[in-house]
Amino acid sequence: MITMPFEFLRRTHGRMTSELARVPGGHGLGAVPRRLAPAGTVNLVCGFCATGCSLRAHLQDGRAINLSPDPDYPVNVGMACPKGWEALAPLEADDRATRPLVRGPGGSLEPVSWSDAARLFVDRFRQTIAQHGPESVAFLSTGQICTEEMALLGSLFKFGMGGIHGDSNTRQCMATAHVAYKESFGFDAPPYTYADFEASDVLVFVGSNPCLAHPIMWQRVLRNPHRPAILVLDPRRTETAAAATQHLALRPKSDLILLYGIAHLLIHNGWIDADFIRDHTAGYDAFCDFAGCFTPDYVAAHTGLGVGEIIRAATTIARGKAVSFWWTMGVNQGHEAVRTAQAIINLALITGNIGRPGTGANSITGQCNAMGSRLFSNTTSLLGGRSFTDPTQRAEVAEILDLPVDAVPSVPSKAYDQILEDAATGRIKALWIIATNTAQSWIHSQQFKEAAQRLDFLVVQDMYVSTATAQCAHLILPAAGWGEKDGTFINSERRIGVVRKVAQAPGEALSDFSIFRLLGEAWGCGDWFRQWTSPAAAFRKIQELSRGRPCDITGIQDYAHLAEAGGIQWPWTAADAGLNPPEDGSIDDSARSARGAPNQPAAERRLFADGRFFTPDGRARLVFEIPRPTPESTDAAFPFVLLTGRGTSAQWHTNTRTGKSAILRQLYPANAYVEVHPDDAHTLHLANGSQVVIASRRGTMQAQALVSASVQPGHLFIPMHYPGVNDLTFPAFDPYSRQPSYKFCAVRVDRVSNPLGER
Ligand code: SF4
Repeated sequence: MITMPFEFLRRTHGRMTSELARVPGGHGLGAVPRRLAPAGTVNLVCGFCATGCSLRAHLQDGRAINLSPDPDYPVNVGMACPKGWEALAPLEADDRATRPLVRGPGGSLEPVSWSDAARLFVDRFRQTIAQHGPESVAFLSTGQICTEEMALLGSLFKFGMGGIHGDSNTRQCMATAHVAYKESFGFDAPPYTYADFEASDVLVFVGSNPCLAHPIMWQRVLRNPHRPAILVLDPRRTETAAAATQHLALRPKSDLILLYGIAHLLIHNGWIDADFIRDHTAGYDAFCDFAGCFTPDYVAAHTGLGVGEIIRAATTIARGKAVSFWWTMGVNQGHEAVRTAQAIINLALITGNIGRPGTGANSITGQCNAMGSRLFSNTTSLLGGRSFTDPTQRAEVAEILDLPVDAVPSVPSKAYDQILEDAATGRIKALWIIATNTAQSWIHSQQFKEAAQRLDFLVVQDMYVSTATAQCAHLILPAAGWGEKDGTFINSERRIGVVRKVAQAPGEALSDFSIFRLLGEAWGCGDWFRQWTSPAAAFRKIQELSRGRPCDITGIQDYAHLAEAGGIQWPWTAADAGLNPPEDGSIDDSARSARGAPNQPAAERRLFADGRFFTPDGRARLVFEIPRPTPESTDAAFPFVLLTGRGTSAQWHTNTRTGKSAILRQLYPANAYVEVHPDDAHTLHLANGSQVVIASRRGTMQAQALVSASVQPGHLFIPMHYPGVNDLTFPAFDPYSRQPSYKFCAVRVDRVSNPLGER
């Protein structure tokens, strides 16, 4: 039986509220007391979403037997969503990968030793590079492993193994925000802190449903004492839209036009901060001219909204004293995503809503360590947010890591879609996939199928042997999961938090960090990474790589400092900490112990309070572009627009982990469902529970109809978590971020006749 999404919400929220009430200190709104975990417990940051809640692991014989939310952590102050409460369950699953497996001649997977697995890995990758060059190998990684692991992987592959192309599944969630911030602010720098949820008098959510996708952030909104206006721009009446003071139910992918239209009204009516624009931005006059075209009538005609609705939204923003703008995947996963994100940034800039409490143009991140990936994975950006094409920055990295400078590639990596395209056409012959389920999650599932058939060698490094991706592998490397290793994550608000080992990985599974070290030794480049002896040692390297960069974290002492401080937001420099770095600039333990008592960071810090951005002239850029039509259109054969997104707060991505918890499984429907508007259901003779086939120009999937006015007539919605969704989606990409556009494709829906012949 399908449960209505709003019932999920009620159940989830009821559960969270009652659980919250039982947690001492869980309602504290003011200064957060900081302390380490009590005896018998260890605090660690959650390994699902980028909220970055701290969970308290309760130990027995050194092993976690239960989790509860950390009441003292400034992020979640005693709360957790269902995934956090159930975060240990995925570790106990029967389908854990426990030994390296190699596909034998008969097609079955056979166990081998780690040394044989490492030898096979090295032989096949070396052979491929020798025969076809360094561009014939690649890796696809994840925002789910620790920063130290990402940095080691990217360094090993590019500096040690001589590869060039490696990307992360953060391409699917955060590439847009990365590019938008970099162009507008001069660095990928989300400016906010979660206290801003509680300090705004106007909150604007664009393509964002925090009620489900980031429920703890939504709880922070609910704690806002200012009775804020909440504007939601979303084609669906999501749970967040239902709670808003104004829901702008615009046409799918017309958000860029609406945002320019709001900018037009703000400028036309003088509802701007002229001093801020003059002192801190560049490009305003050109933006004024451009925005002048987006009159209310034009915007209404293209968005499906009423002129009055558009004027009301602009007026609300104009009247706000502290306006914060928040966006998530509804923006990031679009065909003109970067410009849409920058249209949001422009609104914050022209109204001076940045750098003050309750303000900001704020991208909410997806995965637990997407920000770590953006800064330190060495995929499309060189370590520390540097550029592979900048010789000075390549030399800096080489010097810090004590590498020959020509070991650092001078070209950036190809993007995820380009890597898979090269694999599907035979240019890439060996691919290493780490902790991501590409076969199900990638927008172009046919492309992955072609790649998997064409590859000479596919290595999958994962916790589980059963994922659709692992089932295609020639070699499976068994990896420890969250809770089975040490390291750090960086959350949406730039907070670095600690992950701790509170459980033993099963069988011979190793942490990703250990696997990378093992493969580095087998490759023969272990000497280059000799100082990366542990995640804590790698963290030191990351700190050195951050020195002098906007993300400088040289003021952090060690993991214990992070734990005691309740996580620390970047930047936190040695100078911030009141420490004079040693003369040679290095960070070592003797220098640390000589520093004495350092300054401590405030629990909540935001960027740009001084109005200075990371661009060469310190001014933020107003970037804009003429909107473009969607790459795919509806027509008589495919008359519906299909939207995809998160289904419930109990599900995570392809359900690889959340599907392992019996409790979480009870909080979401086992089978895929599709939301259909009642008018369309009437026309198509559908009722709740009717079996339907959804077809696009690329494939089909079966689902149960859920008749609901949460979607507009002509639209359908399917949660992203179920197999088959990406047989439908259209592989369009933002041209600047190359992030896939999951939120729009053309489909038709047909009822499946039941055995009794009923229609
Ligand atoms: Fe917090 Fe996200 Fe983990 Fe839920 S999944 S407990 S919101 S970090």
